Amino acid sequence: MSASLKGKSVIVTGGSKGIGKGMARVFAGHGARVLLVARNLKDAEAAAQDLSASGGTVGAFAADVTTLSDMEAMAKAAVDRHGGLDVLCANAGIFPQAKIEEMSPESWDHVINTNLKGTFLAIKACVPHLKHSSQGRIVITSSITGPVSGYPGWTHYAATKAGQLGFMRTACIELAKYGITVNAVMPGNIMTEGLQGLGEEYLRTMAASIPLKRLGSVEDIGHAAAFLASNEAAYITGQTIIVDGGQILPESLEALASA
Ligand code: NAP
Repeated sequence: MSASLKGKSVIVTGGSKGIGKGMARVFAGHGARVLLVARNLKDAEAAAQDLSASGGTVGAFAADVTTLSDMEAMAKAAVDRHGGLDVLCANAGIFPQAKIEEMSPESWDHVINTNLKGTFLAIKACVPHLKHSSQGRIVITSSITGPVSGYPGWTHYAATKAGQLGFMRTACIELAKYGITVNAVMPGNIMTEGLQGLGEEYLRTMAASIPLKRLGSVEDIGHAAAFLASNEAAYITGQTIIVDGGQILPESLEALASA
Protein backbone atom coordinates (compact mmCIF):
# COMPACT_ATOMS: atom_id res chain seq x y z
CA MET A 1 0.00 0.00 0.00
CA SER A 2 1.36 3.40 -1.00
CA ALA A 3 0.97 5.81 1.91
CA SER A 4 1.38 8.68 -0.56
CA LEU A 5 -2.16 8.14 -1.90
CA LYS A 6 -3.85 8.52 1.49
CA GLY A 7 -6.20 11.51 1.45
CA LYS A 8 -5.45 12.36 -2.19
CA SER A 9 -8.29 13.67 -4.34
CA VAL A 10 -8.79 11.40 -7.34
CA ILE A 11 -11.11 11.62 -10.35
CA VAL A 12 -11.82 8.46 -12.37
CA THR A 13 -13.73 9.05 -15.61
CA GLY A 14 -15.69 6.00 -16.67
CA GLY A 15 -15.68 5.02 -13.01
CA SER A 16 -19.14 3.50 -12.78
CA LYS A 17 -18.14 0.15 -14.28
CA GLY A 18 -15.30 -2.05 -15.39
CA ILE A 19 -11.72 -0.83 -15.24
CA GLY A 20 -12.66 2.57 -13.84
CA LYS A 21 -14.54 1.01 -10.94
CA GLY A 22 -11.58 -1.30 -10.32
CA MET A 23 -9.24 1.69 -10.27
CA ALA A 24 -11.54 3.47 -7.82
CA ARG A 25 -11.60 0.39 -5.57
CA VAL A 26 -7.79 0.29 -5.46
CA PHE A 27 -7.39 4.05 -4.87
CA ALA A 28 -10.04 4.01 -2.13
CA GLY A 29 -8.23 1.05 -0.58
CA HIS A 30 -5.12 3.25 -0.36
CA GLY A 31 -7.18 5.86 1.54
CA ALA A 32 -7.77 8.23 -1.39
CA ARG A 33 -10.98 10.22 -1.84
CA VAL A 34 -12.41 9.28 -5.21
CA LEU A 35 -14.95 10.91 -7.52
CA LEU A 36 -16.48 8.43 -9.97
CA VAL A 37 -17.61 10.03 -13.23
CA ALA A 38 -19.95 8.63 -15.89
CA ARG A 39 -22.89 9.87 -17.96
CA ASN A 40 -25.40 7.71 -16.09
CA LEU A 41 -25.62 9.14 -12.55
CA LYS A 42 -27.59 6.20 -11.17
CA ASP A 43 -24.86 3.75 -12.23
CA ALA A 44 -22.14 5.99 -10.80
CA GLU A 45 -24.03 6.37 -7.50
CA ALA A 46 -24.57 2.61 -7.26
CA ALA A 47 -20.85 2.00 -7.84
CA ALA A 48 -19.92 4.66 -5.27
CA GLN A 49 -22.24 3.09 -2.73
CA ASP A 50 -20.81 -0.34 -3.43
CA LEU A 51 -17.23 0.90 -2.96
CA SER A 52 -18.07 3.02 0.09
CA ALA A 53 -19.52 -0.09 1.72
CA SER A 54 -16.06 -1.66 1.49
CA GLY A 55 -14.53 1.24 3.41
CA GLY A 56 -13.52 3.83 0.80
CA THR A 57 -14.46 7.48 0.42
CA VAL A 58 -16.17 7.46 -2.96
CA GLY A 59 -18.67 9.84 -4.55
CA ALA A 60 -20.40 10.09 -7.90
CA PHE A 61 -20.74 12.79 -10.55
CA ALA A 62 -22.56 12.78 -13.89
CA ALA A 63 -20.58 14.15 -16.83
CA ASP A 64 -19.83 13.42 -20.46
CA VAL A 65 -16.15 13.44 -21.44
CA THR A 66 -17.04 14.80 -24.89
CA THR A 67 -18.20 18.13 -23.39
CA LEU A 68 -15.69 20.61 -21.99
CA SER A 69 -18.22 22.33 -19.69
CA ASP A 70 -19.05 18.90 -18.16
CA MET A 71 -15.36 18.24 -17.59
CA GLU A 72 -14.89 21.66 -15.96
CA ALA A 73 -17.88 21.00 -13.68
CA MET A 74 -16.40 17.58 -12.81
CA ALA A 75 -13.04 19.09 -11.85
CA LYS A 76 -14.76 21.79 -9.78
CA ALA A 77 -16.86 19.15 -7.99
CA ALA A 78 -13.73 17.25 -6.96
CA VAL A 79 -12.12 20.47 -5.68
CA ASP A 80 -15.28 21.51 -3.81
CA ARG A 81 -15.77 18.07 -2.22
CA HIS A 82 -12.14 17.18 -1.50
CA GLY A 83 -10.40 20.55 -1.19
CA GLY A 84 -8.27 20.08 -4.30
CA LEU A 85 -7.36 17.66 -7.06
CA ASP A 86 -4.29 15.42 -7.16
CA VAL A 87 -4.96 12.60 -9.63
CA LEU A 88 -6.94 12.28 -12.86
CA CYS A 89 -7.52 8.82 -14.28
CA ALA A 90 -8.65 9.57 -17.85
CA ASN A 91 -10.25 6.19 -18.35
CA ALA A 92 -13.67 6.60 -20.00
CA GLY A 93 -13.83 4.86 -23.35
CA ILE A 94 -16.04 2.91 -25.73
CA PHE A 95 -15.27 0.06 -28.13
CA PRO A 96 -18.08 -0.58 -30.62
CA GLN A 97 -16.99 -2.90 -33.45
CA ALA A 98 -17.33 -2.17 -37.17
CA LYS A 99 -15.07 -3.11 -40.08
CA ILE A 100 -13.89 -0.29 -42.37
CA GLU A 101 -16.28 -1.19 -45.16
CA GLU A 102 -19.31 -0.97 -42.86
CA MET A 103 -18.11 1.83 -40.57
CA SER A 104 -19.95 5.13 -40.94
CA PRO A 105 -18.14 8.46 -40.60
CA GLU A 106 -20.47 9.19 -37.65
CA SER A 107 -19.36 6.02 -35.86
CA TRP A 108 -15.71 6.97 -36.47
CA ASP A 109 -16.31 10.46 -35.04
CA HIS A 110 -18.17 9.07 -32.01
CA VAL A 111 -15.27 6.83 -31.01
CA ILE A 112 -12.64 9.51 -31.67
CA ASN A 113 -14.67 12.11 -29.74
CA THR A 114 -15.14 9.87 -26.72
CA ASN A 115 -11.78 8.14 -26.43
CA LEU A 116 -9.31 10.69 -27.81
CA LYS A 117 -10.94 14.10 -27.61
CA GLY A 118 -12.50 13.03 -24.28
CA THR A 119 -9.02 12.36 -22.90
CA PHE A 120 -7.89 15.83 -24.02
CA LEU A 121 -10.97 17.55 -22.56
CA ALA A 122 -10.72 15.79 -19.20
CA ILE A 123 -7.04 16.71 -18.93
CA LYS A 124 -7.61 20.30 -20.11
CA ALA A 125 -10.29 20.81 -17.44
CA CYS A 126 -8.23 19.25 -14.64
CA VAL A 127 -4.80 20.84 -15.28
CA PRO A 128 -5.68 24.22 -13.65
CA HIS A 129 -6.41 22.31 -10.41
CA LEU A 130 -3.68 19.64 -10.68
CA LYS A 131 -1.15 22.52 -10.87
CA HIS A 132 -1.84 23.26 -7.21
CA SER A 133 -1.15 19.70 -6.06
CA SER A 134 2.20 18.60 -4.65
CA GLN A 135 1.61 15.25 -6.38
CA GLY A 136 -0.19 16.06 -9.65
CA ARG A 137 -0.75 12.90 -11.65
CA ILE A 138 -2.53 11.97 -14.86
CA VAL A 139 -3.01 8.30 -15.73
CA ILE A 140 -4.50 7.58 -19.16
CA THR A 141 -6.16 4.24 -19.95
CA SER A 142 -4.86 3.29 -23.40
CA SER A 143 -4.80 -0.33 -24.64
CA ILE A 144 -2.56 -2.87 -26.32
CA THR A 145 -4.99 -2.61 -29.28
CA GLY A 146 -3.60 0.13 -31.49
CA PRO A 147 -0.21 0.89 -29.95
CA VAL A 148 1.09 -2.71 -30.29
CA SER A 149 -1.55 -5.06 -31.67
CA GLY A 150 -4.62 -5.12 -33.90
CA TYR A 151 -8.10 -6.65 -34.08
CA PRO A 152 -10.53 -6.52 -37.03
CA GLY A 153 -13.42 -4.15 -36.41
CA TRP A 154 -11.47 -1.78 -34.22
CA THR A 155 -9.62 0.57 -36.58
CA HIS A 156 -11.30 3.62 -35.02
CA TYR A 157 -10.71 2.35 -31.49
CA ALA A 158 -7.10 1.37 -32.22
CA ALA A 159 -6.44 4.84 -33.68
CA THR A 160 -7.71 6.47 -30.47
CA LYS A 161 -5.62 4.24 -28.20
CA ALA A 162 -2.44 4.90 -30.20
CA GLY A 163 -3.41 8.58 -30.41
CA GLN A 164 -3.66 8.83 -26.62
CA LEU A 165 0.00 7.83 -26.37
CA GLY A 166 1.10 10.42 -28.93
CA PHE A 167 -0.85 13.02 -26.98
CA MET A 168 0.76 11.83 -23.72
CA ARG A 169 4.33 12.12 -25.01
CA THR A 170 3.93 15.85 -25.62
CA ALA A 171 1.54 16.56 -22.72
CA CYS A 172 4.10 15.20 -20.24
CA ILE A 173 6.69 17.72 -21.48
CA GLU A 174 4.22 20.64 -21.35
CA LEU A 175 3.03 19.77 -17.82
CA ALA A 176 6.39 18.88 -16.29
CA LYS A 177 6.89 22.50 -15.22
CA TYR A 178 3.95 22.08 -12.84
CA GLY A 179 5.31 18.83 -11.44
CA ILE A 180 2.45 16.94 -13.11
CA THR A 181 3.34 13.53 -14.53
CA VAL A 182 1.41 11.94 -17.40
CA ASN A 183 1.59 8.18 -17.92
CA ALA A 184 -0.58 5.44 -19.39
CA VAL A 185 -1.69 1.93 -18.57
CA MET A 186 -2.15 -0.39 -21.55
CA PRO A 187 -4.58 -3.16 -20.59
CA GLY A 188 -4.88 -6.39 -22.48
CA ASN A 189 -8.24 -8.14 -22.23
CA ILE A 190 -9.81 -7.30 -18.89
CA MET A 191 -13.05 -8.82 -17.63
CA THR A 192 -15.46 -5.86 -17.58
CA GLU A 193 -19.12 -5.28 -18.33
CA GLY A 194 -18.07 -3.80 -21.67
CA LEU A 195 -15.95 -6.84 -22.60
CA GLN A 196 -18.62 -9.30 -21.49
CA GLY A 197 -20.83 -7.79 -24.18
CA LEU A 198 -18.49 -9.26 -26.81
CA GLY A 199 -19.78 -12.77 -26.01
CA GLU A 200 -18.67 -16.12 -24.55
CA GLU A 201 -16.75 -17.27 -27.64
CA TYR A 202 -14.65 -14.07 -27.67
CA LEU A 203 -13.86 -14.43 -23.96
CA ARG A 204 -12.99 -18.14 -24.22
CA THR A 205 -10.64 -17.86 -27.21
CA MET A 206 -9.07 -14.71 -25.84
CA ALA A 207 -8.25 -16.35 -22.48
CA ALA A 208 -6.71 -19.31 -24.36
CA SER A 209 -4.36 -16.95 -26.24
CA ILE A 210 -2.92 -15.39 -23.06
CA PRO A 211 0.20 -17.00 -21.50
CA LEU A 212 -1.20 -16.50 -17.97
CA LYS A 213 -4.40 -18.23 -19.22
CA ARG A 214 -6.92 -15.79 -17.83
CA LEU A 215 -8.41 -12.44 -18.64
CA GLY A 216 -7.19 -9.63 -16.41
CA SER A 217 -9.15 -8.31 -13.46
CA VAL A 218 -10.08 -4.67 -13.16
CA GLU A 219 -7.93 -4.47 -10.04
CA ASP A 220 -4.90 -5.64 -12.08
CA ILE A 221 -5.21 -2.34 -13.95
CA GLY A 222 -6.07 -0.41 -10.77
CA HIS A 223 -2.81 -1.45 -9.12
CA ALA A 224 -0.75 -0.25 -12.11
CA ALA A 225 -2.63 3.07 -12.12
CA ALA A 226 -2.14 3.48 -8.36
CA PHE A 227 1.61 2.92 -8.76
CA LEU A 228 1.82 5.57 -11.52
CA ALA A 229 -0.12 7.97 -9.26
CA SER A 230 2.03 7.32 -6.20
CA ASN A 231 4.97 9.27 -4.87
CA GLU A 232 7.14 6.24 -5.66
CA ALA A 233 6.54 6.99 -9.39
CA ALA A 234 7.40 10.70 -9.07
CA TYR A 235 10.27 10.48 -11.61
CA ILE A 236 8.31 8.53 -14.22
CA THR A 237 6.55 10.55 -16.91
CA GLY A 238 5.48 9.94 -20.51
CA GLN A 239 5.71 6.16 -20.02
CA THR A 240 3.45 3.15 -20.38
CA ILE A 241 2.84 -0.08 -18.46
CA ILE A 242 1.40 -3.03 -20.38
CA VAL A 243 -0.85 -5.17 -18.15
CA ASP A 244 -1.89 -8.07 -20.36
CA GLY A 245 -0.82 -11.43 -18.85
CA GLY A 246 1.84 -11.69 -21.57
CA GLN A 247 -0.75 -11.60 -24.35
CA ILE A 248 1.29 -9.68 -26.92
CA LEU A 249 4.38 -11.90 -26.63
CA PRO A 250 3.80 -15.35 -28.24
CA GLU A 251 4.97 -15.27 -31.88
CA SER A 252 2.51 -18.01 -32.92
CA LEU A 253 -0.03 -20.50 -31.54
CA GLU A 254 2.84 -23.02 -31.52
CA ALA A 255 4.90 -20.67 -29.33
CA LEU A 256 2.04 -20.69 -26.84
CA ALA A 257 1.29 -24.42 -27.05
CA SER A 258 4.88 -25.63 -26.77
CA ALA A 259 5.60 -23.82 -23.49
P1 NAP B 1 -17.00 -0.41 -19.67
O1 NAP B 1 -17.10 -1.57 -18.74
O2 NAP B 1 -17.88 -0.38 -20.89
O3 NAP B 1 -17.20 0.95 -18.86
C1 NAP B 1 -17.09 2.17 -19.54
C2 NAP B 1 -17.23 3.34 -18.57
O4 NAP B 1 -17.03 4.56 -19.29
C3 NAP B 1 -18.60 3.41 -17.93
O5 NAP B 1 -18.45 3.93 -16.63
C4 NAP B 1 -19.34 4.42 -18.83
O6 NAP B 1 -20.42 5.00 -18.13
C5 NAP B 1 -18.18 5.40 -19.10
N1 NAP B 1 -18.36 6.22 -20.31
C6 NAP B 1 -18.56 5.82 -21.59
N2 NAP B 1 -18.69 6.89 -22.39
C7 NAP B 1 -18.58 7.99 -21.60
C8 NAP B 1 -18.64 9.40 -21.84
N3 NAP B 1 -18.86 9.90 -23.06
N4 NAP B 1 -18.47 10.23 -20.80
C9 NAP B 1 -18.26 9.76 -19.55
N5 NAP B 1 -18.18 8.44 -19.26
C10 NAP B 1 -18.35 7.58 -20.27
O7 NAP B 1 -15.50 -0.25 -20.25
P2 NAP B 1 -14.12 -0.88 -19.74
O8 NAP B 1 -13.95 -2.18 -20.39
O9 NAP B 1 -14.00 -0.75 -18.27
O10 NAP B 1 -13.10 0.15 -20.45
C11 NAP B 1 -12.63 1.29 -19.76
C12 NAP B 1 -11.39 1.82 -20.48
O11 NAP B 1 -10.42 0.79 -20.57
C13 NAP B 1 -11.65 2.29 -21.92
O12 NAP B 1 -10.88 3.44 -22.19
C14 NAP B 1 -11.18 1.13 -22.76
O13 NAP B 1 -10.74 1.54 -24.03
C15 NAP B 1 -10.01 0.65 -21.92
N6 NAP B 1 -9.62 -0.75 -22.17
C16 NAP B 1 -10.46 -1.78 -21.83
C17 NAP B 1 -10.06 -3.09 -22.05
C18 NAP B 1 -10.88 -4.27 -21.63
O14 NAP B 1 -10.46 -5.41 -21.89
N7 NAP B 1 -12.01 -4.10 -20.98
C19 NAP B 1 -8.83 -3.33 -22.67
C20 NAP B 1 -8.02 -2.27 -23.03
C21 NAP B 1 -8.43 -0.97 -22.75
P3 NAP B 1 -21.67 5.72 -18.90
O15 NAP B 1 -22.05 4.82 -20.04
O16 NAP B 1 -22.72 5.87 -17.85
O17 NAP B 1 -21.15 7.04 -19.37
